[in-house]
Amino acid sequence: MEMQGEVDGSGVPLAVLLKRELCNQKVEKPDILFGEANKSKKGEDFTFLLPKCRRRPTPAEGDSEDASGGGDDDTISVFAIFDGHNGSAAAIYTRENLLNNVLAAVPPNLTSEEWTTALPRALVAGFVKTDKEFQTKAARSGTTVTFVIIDGWVVTVASVGDSRCILESAEGSVYFLSADHRLDSNEEEVERVTASGGDVGRINIAGGAGIGPLRCWPGGLCLSRSIGDIDVGEFIVPVPHVKQVKLSNAGGRLVIASDGVWDALRFQEALNYTRGLPAEAAANRIVKEAVGSKGLRDDTTCIVVDILPPEKLSPPLKKHGKGGIKALFRRRPSDELAEDQMDRGCLEPDVVEEIYEEGSAMLAQRLKINYPAGNMFKLHDCAVCQLEMKPGEGISVHGNVPRHSRVDPWGGPFLCSSCQLKKEAMEGKQHLTNSQSTVQPVLK
Ligand SMILES: [Zn+2]
Repeated sequence: MEMQGEVDGSGVPLAVLLKRELCNQKVEKPDILFGEANKSKKGEDFTFLLPKCRRRPTPAEGDSEDASGGGDDDTISVFAIFDGHNGSAAAIYTRENLLNNVLAAVPPNLTSEEWTTALPRALVAGFVKTDKEFQTKAARSGTTVTFVIIDGWVVTVASVGDSRCILESAEGSVYFLSADHRLDSNEEEVERVTASGGDVGRINIAGGAGIGPLRCWPGGLCLSRSIGDIDVGEFIVPVPHVKQVKLSNAGGRLVIASDGVWDALRFQEALNYTRGLPAEAAANRIVKEAVGSKGLRDDTTCIVVDILPPEKLSPPLKKHGKGGIKALFRRRPSDELAEDQMDRGCLEPDVVEEIYEEGSAMLAQRLKINYPAGNMFKLHDCAVCQLEMKPGEGISVHGNVPRHSRVDPWGGPFLCSSCQLKKEAMEGKQHLTNSQSTVQPVLK
């Protein structure tokens, strides 16, 4: 048998993989260092900085925290930017409620790995629930959300709108972790919004061609997804793009910023300004340069988060000129590099591994049961708001998909009737819900 040169599907020699497994047991959680900076014009940007919190939702008053679990391994870090528009009510409401809604949507008693796997679906549920509950406040406003959860070396980013999160790995490669939900640059979203009943176009000046970016009418919103914006239309959905990656234990740097920064600076530019600076100074520099180049035209906010090998309290070294924007893909280190890494001990090759990415606006797609963690979720809880339902009460998320579709329209996951109405409204089918609904209650 040839063991020597054996490789797995990714081209990494088996010996390296085995070594990596052994090393992983000893690899501790990274150190998280962060800083933020903001120049305010409208006062509608908000940040959320939580370097350490439990994986479980904050218990309601009267609930006792169960004694099991806990300890350092149970902690995550959460960083977020909310860029509000038409007022700050949606941004403030989301800042206060989103994290708990997400954490409450992860089934209890999961292992660490299961928790990570369940997180993307919980993010979808938490975003939709937060949007739905904000609607009951009847406040006229909306917000972008760029929501970053760091769990060990795994970074999960859920985003709606046009605030963005980029990652620079320790080796100097740049990865986009958020989506761009600007109508002007996202054709797929224009099609979705139009098909759901939205009217997309530019501002028309008398007799002339349209000017400015593509907007959704009435209202004139430039974004296709947000939390809030009930007055604009249900087709402006809160379903987030979710991307989950695992950093090597060499770490990396995250830059999370509102459009005030990205309208003024290119990604590489922003990163170049931060070379050698610790997180706080890096965030300040980015905001200073953004405002310096275009003036203070919008709220301009930046969070920089360094994910560092434990006890190495300095920003990771960057090799100049090696960067360049890349689509996210698994890079295959040469055998030579891998051997070199092995000789140096337990450092993994600098590989940012994509674990998960999904951006569909359709809940049926985002909550589907054949999702890797599907069987971890309780079948009789509403997949969005977690309401416990009696058998027969739930409505399958696949209930109104065409019959020729391969998914089982009678299978779960299930929604409560209120979340089902929300789903249909987001898909532009609001008018069907009372009279001609094709949806039947199941689970008799
Ligand atoms: Zn529900």
